[in-house]
Amino acid sequence: MSRKIIHIDMDAFYASVEQLDHPEYRGKPVIVGSDPKKGSGRGVVAAASYEARKYGIHSALPISKAYRLCPDGVFVRGRGKRYVEISSSIMEIFYKYTPKVEPISLDEAFLDLTGTERLWGDVENTARKIKDQIQRDLHLTASVGIGPNKLIAKIASDLDKPDGFVSVPESNIQEFLENLSVKKLWGVGPQTQKQLIMLGVESIGDLARLNKDVLIDRFGKMGEILCHHAKGLDENLVHEERSVKSISNEVTFNRDEDSQEIIRNTLLSLSEKVGFRLREKNLRGRTIQLKIRFEGFDTHTRSQTLEDSTCLDHDIYETVLLMLQSLDLNSRKVRLVGVGISQFMDSENCQVSLFEGESDKTTRAQQAMDLIKQRFGKRMIKRGGTISSQSESNTKKYSPHSF
Ligand SMILES: [Mg+2]
Repeated sequence: MSRKIIHIDMDAFYASVEQLDHPEYRGKPVIVGSDPKKGSGRGVVAAASYEARKYGIHSALPISKAYRLCPDGVFVRGRGKRYVEISSSIMEIFYKYTPKVEPISLDEAFLDLTGTERLWGDVENTARKIKDQIQRDLHLTASVGIGPNKLIAKIASDLDKPDGFVSVPESNIQEFLENLSVKKLWGVGPQTQKQLIMLGVESIGDLARLNKDVLIDRFGKMGEILCHHAKGLDENLVHEERSVKSISNEVTFNRDEDSQEIIRNTLLSLSEKVGFRLREKNLRGRTIQLKIRFEGFDTHTRSQTLEDSTCLDHDIYETVLLMLQSLDLNSRKVRLVGVGISQFMDSENCQVSLFEGESDKTTRAQQAMDLIKQRFGKRMIKRGGTISSQSESNTKKYSPHSF
């Protein structure tokens, strides 16, 4: 049976929310991100309104560059809480139509509408209804892609942004993909694209015609996947879960940092933030990630999978420290550090290890700390290690770039 998958992606989400809440920003180039400090600011653009994109500004661009491109733009700090609030209203709309929702980020999700025809009628009409309801209730626009699988739906939603609506019936897949750039396919970055061009491949149509063995020869397993995707085939299911896939926090230092102590203390406070968010969601994770960006944008990530899942700050921090030792920090200045955790399971599934022996005490202490944090704000409580050398002024030394 043919599947009916839709991909919905909000248009310039954070920037649109800012324009919604601040009518004076409408029609202006709005750049959400860290403080540009007249061009000397650190960190990156989190979102740019369509007006700002005309200046060549896009997300992940260094904020200093964005400032140089458009010094008169409206630069605003992100308001994470507000975006989360609107995101949940969007997700609630989705869940009215199907339980099969896979949120990809705050402003993007796959919905599997296969078999909803009996209840809601034609899938295209349903997708329209969802898009219209977002517009009516939240005054924001979304772009929608409809296809027989996630790959096609995702490519379709991106094709006519903003306010797009593109539906691709199964019988039109080849025609739809024929002239699109290979860049549109998952996993094709600048490097892969370059190699494909050397093979004479520019469009997805070209790729589909290329001999599979040539691709496997050049790209291994990835070549096989490319070949499959070029034909518009994708069997991935929409994973219905309301939870996120990973939790991470990172900070960019105001100036490149070489104090081991400050770096370690920052990692501790990030581990605490990540742990807190994990416990807020009632989750435990197994894979812990450390990200370090040195001066000159040289970025390294390390990850370590634990034998048992955890939700404790201490476990996260200890693992991060071990990974830190594997990186050669000597005499190198650090621009950014980040801590993340993934491979989640619900805490309910881990009750045994949660309330057994030694970890019991730690968990209870942690729960008590969380209660205080929830009641009095996160700044109220800190472990000895965090405050010992990090005075208030040190705390202000860095500015969180993710909300
Ligand atoms: Mg978006």
